[in-house]
Amino acid sequence: MSDIQYVAVIGAGTMGNGIAHVLGKYGLHVTLCDSDRGALDRALATIENNLAREVAKAKLDQDGAHAARARITPTVKLDDAAPADLVIEAIPENRTLKQELFRRLDAMLQPEALIASNTSSISITELAAATSRPDRCLGLHFMNPVPIMRLVELIRGLATSDLTAARAQQLVHRIDKTPVEVRDFPGFVSNRVLMPMINEAIFCVLEGVGKPEAIDEIMKLGMAHPMGPLALADFIGLDTCLNIMEVMHQGLGDPKFRPCPLLRSMVAAGWLGRKSGRGFYSY
Ligand code: NAD
Repeated sequence: MSDIQYVAVIGAGTMGNGIAHVLGKYGLHVTLCDSDRGALDRALATIENNLAREVAKAKLDQDGAHAARARITPTVKLDDAAPADLVIEAIPENRTLKQELFRRLDAMLQPEALIASNTSSISITELAAATSRPDRCLGLHFMNPVPIMRLVELIRGLATSDLTAARAQQLVHRIDKTPVEVRDFPGFVSNRVLMPMINEAIFCVLEGVGKPEAIDEIMKLGMAHPMGPLALADFIGLDTCLNIMEVMHQGLGDPKFRPCPLLRSMVAAGWLGRKSGRGFYSY
């Protein structure tokens, strides 16, 4: 059993609600914190729906679903995270916001508590440098949708200690996921490999090589991808895809990571994919 029993998840959006769901399901006590009360209400409704779906598919019994939900306590007050053994932040992909949150958490948590970021691309070393405990900071990059995807990319910042990595690995195994450890470089491994493929698919649309449906069909039938790259971009959010490309372009300094101009203009138009109702497809 992991020494981590009590986890605070900060940010109850797409990722935060999924992370709270799996932690609660596997017996951890969770404080789910969001500064927006409406986001918190939506997150709890999503968690209840997703737990009910697992019951309907006989992956979980009714008592297990009730117990999972009962272990999750929502709050709008960050201070309620103070007793946590581990905090996982899933607030928006913005360096300044995340650094400020790391600083506040460092000041209020117990000395041995760990601080993890679910960032898709921001440097863990830089976030950790905002604290007095860089050895107890790390990246825990869950995949979307969290209740379904098995991988957690475990990112070690320059100062992350062996003990921190071992404690986090133990936790990830406890929630029935597989940690894969990588070093702290822009985009880590998952997005460094995935996003250029999505970006290239967008160039294919821009250059008229194929329609979105054709490009996605080729990657599904030809490469056995469960979802085409453009449908996946709509699912992730085109703003998130653009942010990640920008971080890799700046951080790695290689022109091969330049975001496609069509991606930029779609984001500027507010066509963000599923969440805005329009991206490469209509929803
Ligand atoms: P989201 O916009 O769906 O949710 C973010 C939530 O954080 C919102 O509910 C917002 O109200 C809340 N929030 C903002 N500032 C806050 C603060 N200071 N304190 C408390 N709550 C605050 O975002 P998301 O898609 O869940 O992404 C969260 C993180 O996970 C990002 O770093 C993102 O890069 C990463 N990520 C996203 C995906 C994905 O597919 N969406 C996949 C892997 C990782």
